[in-house]
Amino acid sequence: MKKLIALFLAGVMTMCMLTACGSKEPDEAVETVQGSENAQGETGEAEEDGDVLADGVLTVGTNAEFPPFEYVDDNGEPDGFDIALIKAIGEKLGVTVEVENMEFDSLVSSIGSKIDIAIAGMTVTDERKGSVDFSDPYYEAVQFVIVPAGSEIATAADLVGKTIGVQLGTTGDFIASDDIADTTVNQYNKGVDAVNDLLNGRVDCVIIDKNPALVFASKFEGQLVALDGAQFEFGVEEYAIALPKGDTALAEKINAALEEIKADGTFDKLVETYI
Ligand code: GLN
Repeated sequence: MKKLIALFLAGVMTMCMLTACGSKEPDEAVETVQGSENAQGETGEAEEDGDVLADGVLTVGTNAEFPPFEYVDDNGEPDGFDIALIKAIGEKLGVTVEVENMEFDSLVSSIGSKIDIAIAGMTVTDERKGSVDFSDPYYEAVQFVIVPAGSEIATAADLVGKTIGVQLGTTGDFIASDDIADTTVNQYNKGVDAVNDLLNGRVDCVIIDKNPALVFASKFEGQLVALDGAQFEFGVEEYAIALPKGDTALAEKINAALEEIKADGTFDKLVETYI
């Protein structure tokens, strides 16, 4: 869609240059171009006032390394449950959603500069709440432990002293680094790299969210097993959309759109399609 719009605009502008829009139907054509310039000009000011929707574009950060919530599809575009959800929200709000694929660990700090908001299977945590606000939660999760088939790791006590692979800056990272004694924590930018090191024997297990753990384990069926976090007494987590701190107007709009999407059955359809 984004490309189509860009292409369309480029086409309009090129045609204007080639046919000198100024001559036959000057007003309309010139206005189209000026209109877009103005809209952009106003954007900067509007965003300073906190209205990130004013330019009609919602720039959404994600880390497309977290299937089934976000991944890069066969055409090289970010896709997944979160991407479909935020596009549905954008539709309700009447804005175009542009997705920026970036490292998970830089999402929170990029809100308000590179991106307007972030959707990335992101768990609501008190620490993150210090920098961003969260929408209403939309999905419940728990950390899972991926182990090699035949591993003896089965309880929380078995994780003590282990070398654990995690995705940098995630709740799995925080659990492995802060809550389990004597661990060596290998942090990766991509969960899949942690999984590869598990296959290579460089880490004893990987702690990552339930659904990606199930996807990764099923990709290497027979070699890897995903163990339920309940076995390890990991707590329940909630995913929500990270929003600029203090932008209650935006939070209200996004929560209202989310509610509508749940009420009209779109949410359940997306769960069915992606998860
Ligand atoms: N839910 C985890 C977190 O918020 C992991 C998210 C992710 O890796 N995309 O930290």
